[in-house]
Amino acid sequence: MFFIMGITEGRKDFDFSQTITCSLCGRYGIYTVFMTYMVLSLFFIPCIKWNRHYYVQTSCCNTVYELDPEKGKQIARGESVEILNSDLKRADGRHYGNTYKACGYCGYTTDEDFRYCPKCGREL
Ligand SMILES: [Zn+2]
Repeated sequence: MFFIMGITEGRKDFDFSQTITCSLCGRYGIYTVFMTYMVLSLFFIPCIKWNRHYYVQTSCCNTVYELDPEKGKQIARGESVEILNSDLKRADGRHYGNTYKACGYCGYTTDEDFRYCPKCGREL
């Protein structure tokens, strides 16, 4: 008897959107919500998920925030909730499936390969 096991990082996008005025770039945008998690697969069947993190991304400037987990769970259950600024924490330089760069000075995150922060001009 042997097992084929694998641990991978998964990502799920939720069917959620909220129109906002962005506090960073000042434009109108949409919050979209996604979740990342680690998943243990046995024989290619996902068995255990853990380390769930919920994120919010703005459509205007692609800033990524970490979302309050309670709110994330409500969104995962399909409840209609409103995301408030107090539910968001600026995510910094982690990987979300794509590679994001975060400016250590102003916190601007981008998935493009900028050498200098387009917001504050510091070197990334
Ligand atoms: Zn913005």
